[in-house]
Parts: sequence; C-alpha cells; structure tokens
Amino acid sequence: MHAFISLSRTQPPIPLLSKKKSILSSSPPPPSSSPPPWAKLLQTPLGDPSMFEEYWREEGGEGAVVIRSWEKMSYFSRGGEGPCWFMEGALQEQIARLHGVVGNARVQGKHLVVGVGSTQLFQAALFAISSTHDAQPLPVVSAAPFYSFYAEHVDYLRSGLYRWAGDARTFKEDGPFIEVICMPNNPDGFMNQAVLSEDKGHRIYDLAYYWPQYAPITYEANHDIMLFTFSKLTGHAGTRIGWALVKDEDVARKMTKFITLNTLGVSKDSQLRAAMIMTSIADSYETQNTLGRERFFDSARLLMTERWRRLREAVTKSSSFVLPKFPSPNCRFSGEKSEPHPAFAWLKCERPDVDDCESFLKSLGIVSRGGAHFGADRRYVRVSMLAEDEVFDCFIQRILAIR
Ligand code: PMP
Repeated sequence: MHAFISLSRTQPPIPLLSKKKSILSSSPPPPSSSPPPWAKLLQTPLGDPSMFEEYWREEGGEGAVVIRSWEKMSYFSRGGEGPCWFMEGALQEQIARLHGVVGNARVQGKHLVVGVGSTQLFQAALFAISSTHDAQPLPVVSAAPFYSFYAEHVDYLRSGLYRWAGDARTFKEDGPFIEVICMPNNPDGFMNQAVLSEDKGHRIYDLAYYWPQYAPITYEANHDIMLFTFSKLTGHAGTRIGWALVKDEDVARKMTKFITLNTLGVSKDSQLRAAMIMTSIADSYETQNTLGRERFFDSARLLMTERWRRLREAVTKSSSFVLPKFPSPNCRFSGEKSEPHPAFAWLKCERPDVDDCESFLKSLGIVSRGGAHFGADRRYVRVSMLAEDEVFDCFIQRILAIR
C-alpha cells in the first residue's frame, strides 16, 4: 500500500536520503583551521542531548525510515485511535510498546496526544486546564528549583488564561491553580512529588527524564496528565516529538484543539522517524537483539554512570563544589539498585569568595545556567551532562584545574 510507510523490521535498512540529493552530506565541512566550538567558552547551559549521537551512528541505520515524495502528504493520519486526529497509528503503537518494555508509565486507560516536543504539549495542557476555569488567569506553580522554561512559557504570551506564580512551596493563594511536577527534576535530578493538595489544584507531570539512563524506574507512573519527549528518550531533540498520556478524554480533546490551532498537527515525517527508532529499541528488548551490540538503555545508562563517576571525582578533588546526594532504590527495569544519573548536574559552589557561581564558572571558561533562573540561590548552577564527549572531557578538565 503506497500511503503507508512500512515500519517492519524485516526491511533492510535504507539510507535516509538518496546519494544523489543528500542534504546532510552537502553541507560544507567546517574549515580545518577554525577552533572547535568548545575551545574558548565551554557551552553547557542547555540540555542538548548530543552525547547519544555516537550510539546511533554506530548502530548504522537500523532506525532509518524512507518517506517517498508522494507519501504522508495529508494533514490527517491513519491508524491512530482517540481524539488526536493527527497522530500516526504507528507512533501510538510504539509509544505504548516502549512504556510496556520500560514499565515507567501506564498507557492503559489513557488518551495519547502527540505534540511538537513536550514544549508544545505543556502549553496545550495549560490551555486545556485553564480554559474550563472562570477564575482567571490561573496561577501556575512548580517547586523550586524548577525547570526555568516553565516560567518563560507561561508568561511570554501574557495569556489571559494562566500566569506564572513561582515556587509551589511558597504559594499561598486561595482558589484553583496548576502545579507542574518535574520528575526526575530538571535541574537537580530529584524524584519530585507534588507539594500542594489536589483539592483545588490540577497537576501536570513532566516525565521527560523518567527513563532508565537517567533514573531508576521505581513505579509505573499513572497520573492525570503525563508529558514525555523523544528529545530526552533517545537524544533526537531535532525531531521535535513529544507525547502526552491523558486520563480525561475532554482534556485530551482540548489539548488536541490547542495543537490544531497552534500548528495544525505535527509532522508525519517526524512521527514516523520517532516510531521507527522506538521500534528498534523495543525490538532489541522484546525480541532478538538484532543490533548485535549493547542495547540503547544499557549503553546510555553506562555512559551516564561513567560521566557521573568522573564528575563526582573531579568535584571532590576541586573542593569548590557540592553535588546532590541521591538514594539508590531498586530499578524495575534493570532489576538492580541504582542511583539516578541526571541529565543535568546541579552544582553548588562552596567557596567563601564566590556568591555567584555562574560568573565564577564563566571566568574559568565554562558557560552554565545560574540558580536564579530556576528560582534558586546564585551559588547554584546547572550544567548539562549530555554534551558530546569532547565538551564533557574539557568540562571535567576545567573543573580539575580550579585552584
Ligand atoms: N521538560 C523538561 C524538564 C525539559 O528539560 C525539556 C527540554 N529541556 C522539555 C520539557 C522540552 O522538551 P522538548 O524537546 O520535547 O520540547
């Protein structure tokens, strides 16, 4: 059938772009004399998950998908179920399958909504909840330190429906509100729980990092609204795919309405790419390991464990910082006790001569994101643990060089 892309794993891997017209290979290589981008100021403030690129490069095209020029032209999708009319059936299927493999979230009894990253789904969820309330704009809170983009996303359009109200722990207003719970938390990596009562509040769970490489899977999450992103799951941030698992059908419909009004759907090309890559991961755990090498979560977990080991060692030697200490619960996925290895390091500067850690690190050639962005003290900074190897190595060297 022409209209469908076969996601069958029996297909031989096909190059993503034809040799004749490869957009990827036509971009000019950087001039050899130019310094590498990390040579001067080491950029670590954003969580661009570049470190996983090597895994997928070595994997050699298993997750490749070819979409011919006449395929997937419609706004509409086929094969999907539920209110999200632009969601590809293949993606729905693979999301449910992968959550089943990992055991991190209950899909049964939920409606799936796809979005342009979980960034769009966050806004869709705010819209869905707040558009049913008379009391407006609805306050939105999250326990500090919180993901800095929540505040920016909530306020940048000056919506009449909702407004940023800061740290959930100091929130005292009467009346309805929305609490965002990020678990494991960006920036500090802790397994956050809701801090406010549900009586008047609505909860959005941001589970972007609830995957085995970042945190032990301690329970099957089963909340009203749960957001996930392909960006942090596999590192394919540029594909811009996120999904929401939503209990209430009416909320799922409103979220779908938001995305319809905002971008009139979500790229089919991206959805299929995500579905194919998820297929290759789920297959490697559920059936035979056709990759013939370490499977994705095992490999990613080892990488993160090693990076955290190196960072803790460097921080101890430098005697300038402290890092959060985590418990080591049993992980349902690996069957082993393990501590979290978060995507970000939340560093606190302990030097008496430093009260602004972001500036201090900048003076050492490391660009980080200061605590104030996250509703915290300026002695804290957030540093990405997901940069490519060269950048991470250089970051460790610069920490070790501190006197
Ligand atoms: N939630 C959290 C906690 C994040 O850290 C990020 C990305 N930094 C997002 C959501 C957004 O992810 P996406 O790429 O899917 O928009």
